[in-house]
Amino acid sequence: MPSDPPAAPQAGEQAALVRGVLAGDRRALAKAITLVESTLPEHRRGAAALLEALLPRSGESLRVGISGAPGVGKSTFIEALGIYLLEQGRRVAVLAVDPSSSLSGGSILGDKTRMERLSTAENAFIRPSPTAGSLGGVAAKTREVISVCEAAGYDVILVETVGVGQSETAVAEMVDVFALLQMPHAGDDLQAIKKGIVELAHLVVINKCDLDPSAAAAARRQWENALGMLHSSSPGWRTPVLEVSAAQATGIDAFWRQVESYRHAMTQSGEWADKRRRQAVDWMWSLIDAGLHERFSEHPEVRSQLARFTEDVAHGRATPSGAAAELLQLAHGK
Ligand code: GDP
Repeated sequence: MPSDPPAAPQAGEQAALVRGVLAGDRRALAKAITLVESTLPEHRRGAAALLEALLPRSGESLRVGISGAPGVGKSTFIEALGIYLLEQGRRVAVLAVDPSSSLSGGSILGDKTRMERLSTAENAFIRPSPTAGSLGGVAAKTREVISVCEAAGYDVILVETVGVGQSETAVAEMVDVFALLQMPHAGDDLQAIKKGIVELAHLVVINKCDLDPSAAAAARRQWENALGMLHSSSPGWRTPVLEVSAAQATGIDAFWRQVESYRHAMTQSGEWADKRRRQAVDWMWSLIDAGLHERFSEHPEVRSQLARFTEDVAHGRATPSGAAAELLQLAHGK
């Protein structure tokens, strides 16, 4: 169940919250995230000020997107990877982008028992997807939550996505490395590759290899062939296909070595920093788009006329372009 929204913090409380997050205090972190995720107008200014204070201390992490169809083993994989990273001395935050959770009441990461060991580990922080809003809204909040977690000292951020709809694209656009999980019995499914998504992947992971190792090896070869025919996800990078068993925690170290070698290759070519810069500018534009949209729909003239224009367009009494032009003019007060 979503917790009660917090009261808008006062200036002193706000400073304490910033200090708490920077000191890595989990309660302060959870509170800061709740504030950032809040959709209440009275929390907006506080959330914006919080982000202004934290943003200069963020950015120092490796952001990894994990995607794949429901049941492929994402949470089992994240648990195994998270434990491995903790053993390497990393601090791991796990976030999720799941626009469907507003309908289903929280389908991914909602059930913490799915990551039993990770959820009780001191250096891990697991946060379910915000339960309200459109994909655009959920994605915008997740970007902000990434920054808050980084400011709190988490140096690996794993972002899980449900593997349906457009959430993969949204996640791929906010992470450094994007991994796609697949089942070993790919077979004919290869025909069904959602080409757009596969081309976003920097790593393809065949999970559940313990079930049928020879099928997994065959699936890997098929994937390697298929990937050879697609555009590369990054210039100078050949997307590797890895065999993993999340349940038995095998292949996890090889996975992480590939993540590191991707980072190394992209850092050498300058692509790593370029991509971060592009993502920051894209983030700005998505906020501008959202802000303009909101101002437009809240404008009193637009609010009073919108229903009539909508009806007129629906019934062919006005053209879409004419109606849009008039509404935009109303919003500009001309
Ligand atoms: P998600 O929906 O993608 O998050 O998938 P889950 O992590 O919840 O896993 C779905 C089911 O597959 C669960 O019953 C897991 O125990 C099982 N599973 C996950 N990874 C493996 C694996 O590597 N091998 C086997 N045999 N089962 C696995």
